[in-house]
Amino acid sequence: MDLALRFSKLGTETAFAVAAEARRYIDDGARVFPFHLGDIDLKTPENIIEAANRAMREGKTGYCSNYGIAELRDALAEDINRSHRISYSGANVAVQPGGKPVIQKFFLALMNPGDEVLIPTPGYPIYESIVTFHGGKPVLYPYREGSDGFHLDLDDLERRITPATRLLVFNNLQNPTGAEEDERGLAALSELVLRHDLLVLCDEAYFDIRYEGQSSSLVSFPGMEERCLILYTFSKKYAMTGWRLGAAAGPRELIDGIAKLSVNDESCSNHFVQYAGLEALTGPQDGAKAVIRTLKQRRDRCHELLSAIPGLHCSRPNATFYLFPNVTEVMKRTGLEDYESFRKGVLDATGVSFCTRLHFGSALPGERERYIRLSYSGIDLEGIEEGIGRLRSFVTGKASQGKVKSA
Ligand code: PLP
Repeated sequence: MDLALRFSKLGTETAFAVAAEARRYIDDGARVFPFHLGDIDLKTPENIIEAANRAMREGKTGYCSNYGIAELRDALAEDINRSHRISYSGANVAVQPGGKPVIQKFFLALMNPGDEVLIPTPGYPIYESIVTFHGGKPVLYPYREGSDGFHLDLDDLERRITPATRLLVFNNLQNPTGAEEDERGLAALSELVLRHDLLVLCDEAYFDIRYEGQSSSLVSFPGMEERCLILYTFSKKYAMTGWRLGAAAGPRELIDGIAKLSVNDESCSNHFVQYAGLEALTGPQDGAKAVIRTLKQRRDRCHELLSAIPGLHCSRPNATFYLFPNVTEVMKRTGLEDYESFRKGVLDATGVSFCTRLHFGSALPGERERYIRLSYSGIDLEGIEEGIGRLRSFVTGKASQGKVKSA
């Protein structure tokens, strides 16, 4: 069957292809060390599960408002106001089936064909895919590695702006690099946004996945509340990736547009799951705190072991659950100098599965350094230790390799 012509322009999240490949290895009886996917192997806190069960038993099983239930919209506005120094009400929030749908709805609501959209690279690949699919023009701006991790280069970003540029995607606490801008960087970015009259998708999927310090948002700066749409998600913070619950928060006209898209797309987000979200926000936070404690231990150990691999260097972000080590020298040493040969070579020999720079949007001309992304949200400490140990042996050529049989 021939799919519509526009399908030739639709990309995908290739990390899911890596996951499918890892699954085939497991089905063949091999042990895989899953560093590839941003999923969480921890349980959703019990009080949240119970709230969903209760809501189902109480009959919250029919349709609800396309904007989401009022109690959850109010609770989300309060939660965002607390951390963002702004004053949203429930009317500024549209509940969504996950954070990801906010991306497509932002572009459907605001982008006209031919509009240029500034998109981070390396970055979450869905932005580029959706912009191209809907007839926009992605203009990539780089995150660059410095001595203290990855940063935005604002001058570089500004040079890419033309009269056709209308929209900016900004993913502070960034996937895959873990980069975040400090208050000064955010203030400068907010001035740039005003200077060029841009509208911004603030993807804050990892806003609450942080181990030290405090997260800051572009939305907190003067003039930004009217120009930004926040992508909010329960997925990471409460270990709820499979529940599919998130929200869009921003100016009311835009929220009305997004809710109208919801009527056309999915009618409403899952009704009883919204009561679970309400419990997540307003109930005890011990579960969310335990998630962060576990992830922090994993980050520290994973970073320590990776940094001890000769020729590899890796910054240690305070937020997200990703590490993005520079493996330029390591790849050279193994003789596997293209990304896919390296990734598959490591997977075949050690069972260690990860994504590479290739999975995070198009590269810019002149990119010479090589990176891989390790996610530590879906692998326990024992797996991290054995997996990184095997990676080390592979790249230093020291130990016998071979697929590890699963237990
Ligand atoms: N934005 C970024 C940067 C992400 O990494 C993800 C998930 O990995 C999402 C958005 C979407 O998350 P969800 O749809 O599970 O809320």
